Amino acid sequence: MPAYKSRIITFLKNREIKDVNGYLIISNGKIKKITKEKPECEIINYDDFIIMPGFVDSHIHLPQVNIRGKWSTSLLEWLEKYVFPEEIKFLNEDYAKKNSAKFFYGLAKNGTTSAMVFGPPNIESTEIAFEEAKRVGIRTFMGQTLMDTNVPEELKTTVRDAKKSMKSMVNHLDGKRAAYVLTLRFAPACSMEMMKETANTARKLNLRIQTHISEQQEEIELVKKMYGKSYAEVYDSAGVLTKRTVLAHGVHLSPREMDLIAKRNAKIAHCPSSNFFLHSGNMPITELMKRGIDIGIGTDVAAGPFMNLMPVLRDAYYANPITPRTAFNLLTSGGARVLGIDDYAGTLEPGKQGDFVVLKISDNSMSTNEILSELMFLGDDRNVMATYVDGKSIYMSEGI
Ligand SMILES: [Zn+2]
Repeated sequence: MPAYKSRIITFLKNREIKDVNGYLIISNGKIKKITKEKPECEIINYDDFIIMPGFVDSHIHLPQVNIRGKWSTSLLEWLEKYVFPEEIKFLNEDYAKKNSAKFFYGLAKNGTTSAMVFGPPNIESTEIAFEEAKRVGIRTFMGQTLMDTNVPEELKTTVRDAKKSMKSMVNHLDGKRAAYVLTLRFAPACSMEMMKETANTARKLNLRIQTHISEQQEEIELVKKMYGKSYAEVYDSAGVLTKRTVLAHGVHLSPREMDLIAKRNAKIAHCPSSNFFLHSGNMPITELMKRGIDIGIGTDVAAGPFMNLMPVLRDAYYANPITPRTAFNLLTSGGARVLGIDDYAGTLEPGKQGDFVVLKISDNSMSTNEILSELMFLGDDRNVMATYVDGKSIYMSEGI
């Protein structure tokens, strides 16, 4: 039972913050308590650093790990030019294995302990990706990226195959550390039949769903042309909007669509770096929060160029003036709510799993706000000294 001596900061409900100079005690992979009194056990000294809950990436694409920073003029052009050719490479199992390892190691190195992941385009490579996630130790919520319309032939899955693979995956995945997520690319790439079947499976097996919504005008017009309805209404008519659904982006939602998402209790992954990269626009965060919609933060690699979530918080601020407290709250406990893991992760409260990150800052006598502000505006992977999941180190910097 080790104790980590450090300045420990955690984000609780109602935007509250706990900031203690003391000891984080871990027992059997779980947080026992945070205390100022020196405990009678092995002490690991992180005195020069701070400890925070592990970062939660609410939206990221595994088969795009190698195409970060590839400029293009619009979402649809970028998909054609870079994303689809790269995702086809992940049908090869050797390529999938090598690059899944790179992807999950990248998350660990960046302080991410839990992630909602769009996986490879076939089930075999998705299984390989789950093995690599387990080997590295990331808490992973992922699925094969399903699509059957408007994409290259190699990437298409039939509804029948998709149903078969969903059922084979759910049987051998433990829910807390890894879970299969029904992953629809987005409405323009999925037939109504595929969306409906996915929603049915989600309902029967109580699974999470993830997809994209309302990212760019050109895409929204395409959805309207294909289905004759607003984006949110298309998903709702297929049964895709549930309390276990995570929708990435939501940049151009109408008030009516926001009301519908709030009514279904679906969640939103805010991806500001990606929105800047593709010039998608600014997500109306205040409007969504006003409706009580749970919001997490997503890197959206590779439209977002960084695997680290701190630069994404900086971009969130440039998109909408949120405080560093709100930003880190959304990143940790907010992200856990979006992923549906808040009963066991996302904060450093007693009883939760020992998922935390050790961060270097310039001066640990700064106020809480100053620390958060410095990390939000200057932070990146160089600040990450160590990453722990279930109380076990999954990454240790050479500088520690
Ligand atoms: Zn995305």
